[in-house]
Amino acid sequence: MPENLLPLPSPARFRPRRVLGLTALLATFLLISFLAYRTSESYGLDRMRRESSHQLDILAAAIDSEVTRHASIPSAIELSPEVLTLLRAPDERQDILQAEANRFLQKLNDRLGGPAIFVLDPEGRVVASSDWIFSDNLLGADLSYMPFYRDAVNGIPARHYAVDHVRPEPGYYFALPIRDELQEWKVIGIAVVKSGIRELERRWLGQEAPALIVDRNGIVLLASPPEWRYASLETQSKDDLERVSREQFGGQQLGAITLDIALNGTDEGTLVRLPKHLRGEIGPVSDDRRYLALSRNLPGTAWRIVVFSDRRPVAVQAATHSALAAAALGCLLLGALYSKQRRRLARGREDARAMLERANLALEQKFGERTADLSDAVDRLQREVAERQRAEETLRAAQGELVQAAKLAVLGQLAAGITHELSQPLGAIRTLSANAIEFMQRGDLVTAGKNLGIVGQLAEQAGDIITPLKTFARKSPAVSTAVDVGQAVDSALFLFEPQLRKQKVVVERPTTGSPWIAWCDRNRLQQVLVNLISNALDAMADSAERRLSFSVTQAAAGELALAVTDSGLGLSEEALEHLFEPFFTTKQPGEGLGLGLTISRDILRELGGDLLASPAAGAGARFVILLPAVPAAVLSPEEGTP
Ligand code: ADP
Repeated sequence: MPENLLPLPSPARFRPRRVLGLTALLATFLLISFLAYRTSESYGLDRMRRESSHQLDILAAAIDSEVTRHASIPSAIELSPEVLTLLRAPDERQDILQAEANRFLQKLNDRLGGPAIFVLDPEGRVVASSDWIFSDNLLGADLSYMPFYRDAVNGIPARHYAVDHVRPEPGYYFALPIRDELQEWKVIGIAVVKSGIRELERRWLGQEAPALIVDRNGIVLLASPPEWRYASLETQSKDDLERVSREQFGGQQLGAITLDIALNGTDEGTLVRLPKHLRGEIGPVSDDRRYLALSRNLPGTAWRIVVFSDRRPVAVQAATHSALAAAALGCLLLGALYSKQRRRLARGREDARAMLERANLALEQKFGERTADLSDAVDRLQREVAERQRAEETLRAAQGELVQAAKLAVLGQLAAGITHELSQPLGAIRTLSANAIEFMQRGDLVTAGKNLGIVGQLAEQAGDIITPLKTFARKSPAVSTAVDVGQAVDSALFLFEPQLRKQKVVVERPTTGSPWIAWCDRNRLQQVLVNLISNALDAMADSAERRLSFSVTQAAAGELALAVTDSGLGLSEEALEHLFEPFFTTKQPGEGLGLGLTISRDILRELGGDLLASPAAGAGARFVILLPAVPAAVLSPEEGTP
C-alpha cells in the first residue's frame, strides 16, 4: 500500500467541557483538602494551646511551690537574736558571736532540708553561714556583686536566680534586709536563703516537650533539653552577656547557644522554628519542625516559663483529615456518579422496555393486520377452492353425463344390429309358442313341451344379447381394478357381433397366452373400445378388405399399450390435427357428434393412461390405448399377479 494511503491516526479529540469539568473537580478536591487541613490544623492548634496552657499551669505551680517554700525563711533569720547580736557587735567580738549565729543557721538549715542560709553584713560579706562546717563554706565571701545585695542593702527584699562564685551550684536567692530598731531601723545586714533547684531540674527533665525557664535578661535558667541552659533567648551583645554573667551567674559563660526565639507572651503563643543546629537536641528527628511556643510569667518572680509543643502531630492529623475529606468527597462523588449511572441505567432500561413495548405493540398490530389479511386470503382461498370443487364436481358431472351420452349414442348406433339380432329369436319364439299352442290343443303335449323348451333357450339367448348392453349402458363411477385387457376387447367385440359378421370383418384378437392385466375401470375401457370399434367399422364401410386387429404390448415401464388397427380409409392430415377436438367429425349430420375420441381420451387420461392416433402401415388408422399396469403394491408377493 502506498504510504500516502495508509490510514492516519485520528487526532485526539479535544473536549473543552470535559477538561473544564476535570479542572473544576481537581480544584474542588484541592479546596476541600485545603479547608479540611486548615480547619483540622486550627482545631489541633487550639487543643495544643489548651494542653500547653495546662502544662504551663502545672509547671508554674511546681516551680512556685518549690521556690517559694523557702521565701519566709529570711524573716525568721531577721528575728533571730544570735544574728542580730552578731550584726550589732563590733568587729573584734564577731568571731565569738559568729559561731553562735552559724550554729543557729545550721540548725535552721537542717530542719528545712537543704537550702543554704547565710547572713551578709552591709558591705556584702558573709558573716554567718549554715555551711560553716564545710571547708568550702561561704564565710567571708564577698557577695556584694550579686544583684539581690544591691536591692537588699537599700532596704528592698529581693529574689532571683544566681550562681555564686564560691559554690557554682545554681540556686534561687531570697534576700531580706535586716533592720535594727535600736539604730533607727538602719539596715545592719542581709538575711539570704539559697534554694537549690535540683529537684526542680529533675522534674523538669522529665518533660516530654521542650520547656525552659528564662530570667528577665532572657537567659535560660533551666531547660529541657539541659544543653540549652544558659542559652540566650535572643541574640544579645557580648558586653551585656558578660555583665549579667558577672553579676548573677558567678562568671558562668552565657549565650553560647542562641535560641533565636522572639516570644510575644500572648495566649495564642508563637509558632517558632528552632535553629537547625539545635533541632537534634530535642528529639531523634532532626527535621524542619515547627513548634508552638507558649510562655507565661511566673508570679512573684521575673521568670518566664516557655513550653514548646511539636506541631507535627497536628500537621499529620490535619493531613489525615485532609486526606479523609478528599476521600469522603471522592466517595461522595463516586456515590453520586454511581447513583447517576444507576439512574441512567434504569432510564436506559425503562427506555428499552418502552421501546420494546412499542415494538411489541407495533408488531402485534402488524401481526393482527397480517393475520386479518391472511384470514381474508384464507377465506378467499377457501371460497375459491370450494368454487373450484363445485366447478370440478359440475365438470365431472358434465363429463359423466357426456360419457353417458356417448354411450347412449353408441347404443343408438348398435340399436339396428341388436334389433336385428333380437328379431330372429323373437320371431322363432313367436312361431314356436304358436306351434306349442297348436300341439297342446291336439293333445300332443310332448311336442308342445319340446317347443316350449326351445322357446326358453331362445329367450335366454335374447337375454344374453341384452345383458352386455345393460352392463355397458349402466351409469357408474370410474373405479380402477385389475382388468384383463383381452376380456375387455372380447366384451366390446361381442356388442358388434352382428355388424362384424354382416360386414365380414376379419378380427384379429390379442394373442392368447398369459393375460394382459391393466389397472383401470373395466366399463370405461370397454366404452373406449366400443367407440374405437364403431369408428373403425364406419371407416371400413367402403373398404374392399376389412380387417380389425388388436395387439397388446408392454410400452414404457408400468404401462400397457393396446393397439387397435383397421384397414379403413385412414386418417387425413386435417383429421390427425383435429382428431381429439370436441365436435370434430367427418360424418354426416345425425351420424356422429365428434365427441367420441375426445371423451375416450379424457376417460383414459383420468385412468392414468392416454390415447394416441396415427396412420396404420399400408392403409387405415391405428389407435393406441395406453393403460397403467397393476401397481406393485396390489400384486401378490408370491405370484406376482393380482
Ligand atoms: P364421430 O364418430 O361422431 O365423428 P369421433 O370423435 O369418434 O366422432 O370421430 C371423429 C372423426 O375422426 C370421425 O368423424 C372420423 O372422420 C375420424 N375417425 C375416427 N376414427 C377413424 C378411423 N378408424 N378411420 C378414419 N377416420 C376415423
